[in-house]
Amino acid sequence: MTSRKKSDELFNRASVKIPGAVNSPVRAWKAVGANPIFIESGSGATLIDADGNSFLDYVCSYGPAILGHAHPRVTQAIAEQARLGLGFGAPTRLEVELAELISSAIKCAQKVRLVSSGTEAGITALRIARAATGRPNIIKFDGCYHGHSDSMLVRAGSGGMTLGQPDSAGVPSALAAMTMVARYNSIETVEGLFRAAPDKIAAVIVEPVAANMGVVNPDPGSLKALAEIAHHNGALLICDEVISGFRLSFGSVAESMGIAPDLIMLGKIIGGGMPVGAVAGPAKIMDLLAPIGPVYQAGTLSGNPVSVRAGLETLSILKETNPYAALDAAGARLEAGLHEAVKELRKNGGSGCVNRAGSLLTMFIGPERVRDADEARGCDGGKFAKFFHGMLDRGINIPPSQFEAMFISTAHTNADIDRTIAAARESVCDLARGKS
Ligand SMILES: *Cc1c(COP(=O)(O)O)cnc(C)c1O
Repeated sequence: MTSRKKSDELFNRASVKIPGAVNSPVRAWKAVGANPIFIESGSGATLIDADGNSFLDYVCSYGPAILGHAHPRVTQAIAEQARLGLGFGAPTRLEVELAELISSAIKCAQKVRLVSSGTEAGITALRIARAATGRPNIIKFDGCYHGHSDSMLVRAGSGGMTLGQPDSAGVPSALAAMTMVARYNSIETVEGLFRAAPDKIAAVIVEPVAANMGVVNPDPGSLKALAEIAHHNGALLICDEVISGFRLSFGSVAESMGIAPDLIMLGKIIGGGMPVGAVAGPAKIMDLLAPIGPVYQAGTLSGNPVSVRAGLETLSILKETNPYAALDAAGARLEAGLHEAVKELRKNGGSGCVNRAGSLLTMFIGPERVRDADEARGCDGGKFAKFFHGMLDRGINIPPSQFEAMFISTAHTNADIDRTIAAARESVCDLARGKS
């Protein structure tokens, strides 16, 4: 067991001044019954904590770090940009270039509004959809996460699901009542909601590949059916690609499945590790935004030049190097190894499954398959916590929750993946032996 002395000291200090010691709930490691490690630095696929321990990282900042931590070209771009000024409250060439680059990769993204987080992208997308249709209600899916705006903290995935708080206190019930909840991979539940409120639904919002209840793929054809039902009922389809955008291909996963979203939300990778989000769509919908339309939206640091430069550099590297086949192969290698670990688990009376989309994976301990949030909630939290610590003790940092994806970056080597698989098999064996 490596030392956690400095992390524990920092945790104690943080607990005095920061609610729960963290600035985002999943970081608190409550679901795995421990205090978090505090990170000092990251390089490539490796993190160094405050005590000098190093870890192979599969959190990757929850998605942005697709090139690994502190990619030299990205950090150099940021340093260059910082010397030119941190923001001006005025438009810059960089914003034009990022909008053009996103637009060139995503067909429906004729126009792009940059914001500073995925949450803001969600707030803006919902407001546009409500304005475009003149309707109040939104359909979302149980276990999908679209940021922490009031309307979206209803059966939300990610941290809310991890902490058993998918609905938040402080959200007026009148507002929450406008958010209707369907089951992922169940078109019937969507149809039922449209039947219940045929003229009230402004939009259906979906993660086209879900990654906030763990990774859950859409059934073949289900997104197409979803788009048809939404449009048949006069509602918009909002695809939340804050994780999946530029993660599975250079562009949108919804479009790669033959869907044309009415609005798309982006974040994470497009900021290259810095805070950036975006909402994008056809001109006729996006032009509802102020200053030319009636939908107000603004941000002091929106399109911030340092963040945008980081995003531009990251997207440029992805475009030049096209690493998606290699990322998928790395994902497949890890998936195969984790399947072996699950087999090991079964030999000892346990169960589980592995879900994967490209370089996103979740190994669920407990359920034999996960197609929706109910099945994800069937996981064995206690066993997962032990598995998590088994991995951590072997130098592997995976997300501290069953309801998050593991992220592979271009910096992860086959040797890294093989080391991870070995650690997973050992950690699973520890579970069988009841070792904690
Ligand atoms: C992370 C995430 C968000 C929220 O983005 P923030 O930048 O954390 O506000 C929204 N949607 C999805 C699918 C996400 O994974």
